[in-house]
Amino acid sequence: LKTLLKDPSLLCTKALVAGDWVDAEDGKTFAVKNPARGDVICTVPDLTRADAARAIAAAQAAMKDWAARTGKERAAVMRKWFELMMANQDDLGLILTAEMGKPLAEAKGEIAYGASFIEWFGEEAKRIYGETIPGHMRDKRITVLKQPIGVVGSITPWNFPNAMIARKAGPALAVGCGFVCRPASETPLSALAMGLLGERAGLPKGILSVITSSRASDIGKEFCENHTVRKLTFTGSTEVGRILLRQAADQVMKCSMELGGNAPFIVFDDADLDAAVEGAMMSKFRNNGQTCVCANRLYVQAGVYDAFAEKLAAAVAKLTVGDGLEAGITTGPLISEDAVEKVEEHIADVVAGGGKIVTGGARHALGGTFFQPTVVTGVTQEMKVATEETFGPVAPLFKFETEEEVIEKANATIFGLASYFYARDIGRITRVQEGLEYGIVGVNTGIISTEVAPFGGVKQSGLGREGSHHGVEDYLELKYICLSI
Ligand code: ADP
Repeated sequence: LKTLLKDPSLLCTKALVAGDWVDAEDGKTFAVKNPARGDVICTVPDLTRADAARAIAAAQAAMKDWAARTGKERAAVMRKWFELMMANQDDLGLILTAEMGKPLAEAKGEIAYGASFIEWFGEEAKRIYGETIPGHMRDKRITVLKQPIGVVGSITPWNFPNAMIARKAGPALAVGCGFVCRPASETPLSALAMGLLGERAGLPKGILSVITSSRASDIGKEFCENHTVRKLTFTGSTEVGRILLRQAADQVMKCSMELGGNAPFIVFDDADLDAAVEGAMMSKFRNNGQTCVCANRLYVQAGVYDAFAEKLAAAVAKLTVGDGLEAGITTGPLISEDAVEKVEEHIADVVAGGGKIVTGGARHALGGTFFQPTVVTGVTQEMKVATEETFGPVAPLFKFETEEEVIEKANATIFGLASYFYARDIGRITRVQEGLEYGIVGVNTGIISTEVAPFGGVKQSGLGREGSHHGVEDYLELKYICLSI
């Protein structure tokens, strides 16, 4: 990998703790693997709870100066960081593809997407407005300040190794917080490269640490039990989110949680079918089905069910599976053997229940964790895919008759992150967008992610929002000042 990089120093094999690039005290490391080839890219330090504690203390110390700066001063550093990420987009993309597997074009897209949060929130740093409130008595003056909440602990998954961190580091640092992140152990290299570029951009020493560690739960405990940490921000499964919320309860810590989804993708009779197929391809097969907003259940109205299935299968057959570093590849490997097994389990369950494989359905001839993009029909609410997130390249097609029926089915889940539907009747569009119990609704589009909009879920998909002007609020505390004159 190093030989492919224009700037080989971006491949960091030390961790960034309290402003220094360090190894583990006991010299322990863990390996970072390339999921397309199975080979080891490099090793990184396997840090401990004590390292996280050091990083937290340093973040707190660095906040004194950082939080005291003007928004414009912090914005200038964030702007530089954004520019460095974009200037190194090719290298950052290569590192990301190597450790995570998504095709290079998608990886570079993620770098631009991640960088956009650094840019956006840097700009928002200048706009953290407080409030004045007319007093309740003649001699009282009321003002409300917005202040940085304090040191933030961040835990993120492997599916967006850059953007998931950028969405959290952006608002945290912009408003003046210190930030300690623990990237997924599958994908620490993208996080370290971001840390290095942050340092080059002029982030003060210690304000940002990147704790590489195979011991996720130890680091999670330090974040939840260390009294200096005032906020926990997490992206990952609902299961782990619940554990962290329980742990965080002991010190009544503010939490942002971006958890699992089970996105419905609904195609009505009056939809533009070609557009719906295109949207479904983006929503379902981007990142090989490994995003929390990927369509998980495709509900297709009876009148267009067969036509949609045929068109979708034809589009899916055009996907090219392979090593994301090679040209022309649209679909990389899955992240792990466990991920492949879950996909196999869901397909077997559909087949056992009487469903049919239209295309794909099995491991890919390339071996490893490559899997054929798959479409299955005849799927019903009793099957596992109806309630569990597949997180892989399987498009299950459910048939429905009426609008009321499909809204009820779409909402019949503990999750409420993203949802999508295709229709043209304006009355129907209005009813359905209001009826879906989801934090995000894509209408006639399969792509909803952008830094300018509030991303987040309802129900057990999470707490808080990332992106947009709402995104900074999770990192701020209100202080009400009552002045008697
Ligand atoms: P995913 O399936 O996307 O990896 P997880 O919720 O299992 O979702 O993991 C998300 C992140 O949380 C990963 O970085 C993982 O290492 C970390 N993690 C897993 N279990 C815990 C835990 N008990 N405490 C803190 N972090 C955890």
